[in-house]
Amino acid sequence: MTKQTLSFQAETKELLDLMIHSLYSHREIFLRELVSNASDAIEKLKFESLTDSKLVANTSAFEIRLTPDADAHTLTISDNGIGMSRDEVVENIGTIAHSGTKSFVKMKTELKDHPEMIGQFGVGFYSAFMVADRVTLHTQKAGTTEGTIWESDASGSYTLENAPRPQGHGTTVTLHLKPKGEASADATDSAETGDSQTNQDFTDNWTLKSIVKKYSDFVAFPIKMKTTRDVEKEDKTTETVIEDEVLNSQKALWLRSPAEVTSEEHADFFRHLSREWGEPAKTIHFKAEGTIEFTSVLYIPAQKSFNYDNQDRNSTLSLYIKRVFIMDDCENLLPAYLRFVRGMVDSSDLSLNVSREILQKDIQITRIRKSLVGKVLNALKDMMASDRPGYEKFWANFGATLKEGIPLEPTSVEKIQDLLLFQSTATDQQTSLREYVDRMKPGQKGIYYVTGESLSQIKNSPYLERLRAKGYEVLLLTDRVDAWVTTGLNKYADKPLQSITSDNLELSSEDEKKAEDEIRKEAESKYKSLIENMQAALKEKVSEIKVSERLTESPVCLVSSGASSAHLERMMESMGQAIPKSKRVLEINPHHPLFERMLKAPQLKQGEWAELLYQQALLNEGSKLENPVQFSKQIADLMISASQQF
Ligand code: ADP
Repeated sequence: MTKQTLSFQAETKELLDLMIHSLYSHREIFLRELVSNASDAIEKLKFESLTDSKLVANTSAFEIRLTPDADAHTLTISDNGIGMSRDEVVENIGTIAHSGTKSFVKMKTELKDHPEMIGQFGVGFYSAFMVADRVTLHTQKAGTTEGTIWESDASGSYTLENAPRPQGHGTTVTLHLKPKGEASADATDSAETGDSQTNQDFTDNWTLKSIVKKYSDFVAFPIKMKTTRDVEKEDKTTETVIEDEVLNSQKALWLRSPAEVTSEEHADFFRHLSREWGEPAKTIHFKAEGTIEFTSVLYIPAQKSFNYDNQDRNSTLSLYIKRVFIMDDCENLLPAYLRFVRGMVDSSDLSLNVSREILQKDIQITRIRKSLVGKVLNALKDMMASDRPGYEKFWANFGATLKEGIPLEPTSVEKIQDLLLFQSTATDQQTSLREYVDRMKPGQKGIYYVTGESLSQIKNSPYLERLRAKGYEVLLLTDRVDAWVTTGLNKYADKPLQSITSDNLELSSEDEKKAEDEIRKEAESKYKSLIENMQAALKEKVSEIKVSERLTESPVCLVSSGASSAHLERMMESMGQAIPKSKRVLEINPHHPLFERMLKAPQLKQGEWAELLYQQALLNEGSKLENPVQFSKQIADLMISASQQF
């Protein structure tokens, strides 16, 4: 087939423009990205050849090779990995995996500031255009004889040509490097960034060696480069020999003794595994011995990656078996509520011929998982005890994920409950349940909470009035998952967790209750006819109208009987899962002067005002009004009639 020209997707073109014209700092990371791709390609082939022996004869020949050419001003990175078919080239190299304009816009702005983050966007290959104005990729899929040449100068299109790759399977990426100094001359802001690396020569052996050492030292395959060396011969003359030099130590970091690995090495490994930037907030490196033997390195990231909240992957651990890479994102190693953890597990007890299906049922994997969960939860516990500000940062990033463990994994509730943090009425700081319990007032029966959409809304909730008067602390829950968390966590330290909107909230002592009963009975008989009339007017909307001791300031509030709360109903509705609305109880505050007045009003007015009070109760709890227009009209009418006194 002759040469074919194809256009880039609009977003890809935009991204390439950005690469080629605007990104000047950290340009050296292109090498890390291309070496990582080469290493992934070899790992894939190594894995596939476990089950298909026809694919490769000699796995010890795996290598990544750098070939700089100062005269041609090119740098070539080649691997003998799995390679790509023509279709795969189009799919992988011509399009951006994360479409969706929102994430793309975010990606662009973040890349401008931090080009080194490119790996986490899944577009590492394009970083080649930070240093090259033309890139050629020649690839051949293992097990085939057809090769493909892809080439682009990032101008909006690329060409494809069929040609076998002389070395067989694998991929060769040739970078036609930008003229030296062009980047800094172009760069409008290079002086500001003060980046001394803009003039790096990527055909220089020493430069390449130091970049490989810095970013790719633990890559499991040799990264080779031809270097020259002067050798002194017996007759004292020197001869220049050309030989292969391996640039990386290939040390499997996880197999070294945990005490020997430095935090810098861990930070590099974290970036390599997660394709993220930054450093881990916490590193867990351990070897398990006994019934099951494995080694694991786990990282709790210090930051949330850019698409963390939109991703649907439930796991982020890589699985190795006897040092052989088996798979990324191995779902069975950690439960979904720990999906913020990055890292890897190397087991010596599993068979190399595993598949995702087998792993699901494997008893060894279940044991590994149990051990990893314990390690992560213990590490978080330590962090909370020894570095509270650090833990609060972790919580702000990943607390909402961790909380899912309460409803999803009952066996870990005991541990997770001590890791929870909440906003509360007692303090501006986040509080744990233990701290709450330690602050409980004598006679306080439960741990009280209220759920809602925003802090400002629930802080003003009328349900808080009574508790505030008694000096009881209330946890303010605003995360989407909180309604489920509270159904999974019935009590803590033998104290029941109670929603302050529930109708069986008992706040008083026996004596107080007696006195309250008196007052209530009195009010009930006093307002009997009013309550009946209000009930008749609201019979479609509320199940009952009750005199209540809950309120001290507001005239009314709505409470739910049973488990489902208004917040949960609203949340289910917003997710398109309407659950039948249960009628609720309207509680009235007998101390509010309004009812005294209403008692004297004609029955029709009592009904109208009951309607108004009901709508107010809905507004107070953050629910939508059924008919806002009618409500406004009623208020206006009320104002007109009130103004007649002026
Ligand atoms: P990422 O590696 O994060 O997926 P890249 O833009 O670096 O993003 O690469 C896109 C895809 O192109 C890779 O997922 C892989 O399928 C393919 N690819 C890139 N480089 C190679 C290579 N050297 N050999 C085989 N496939 C490759």
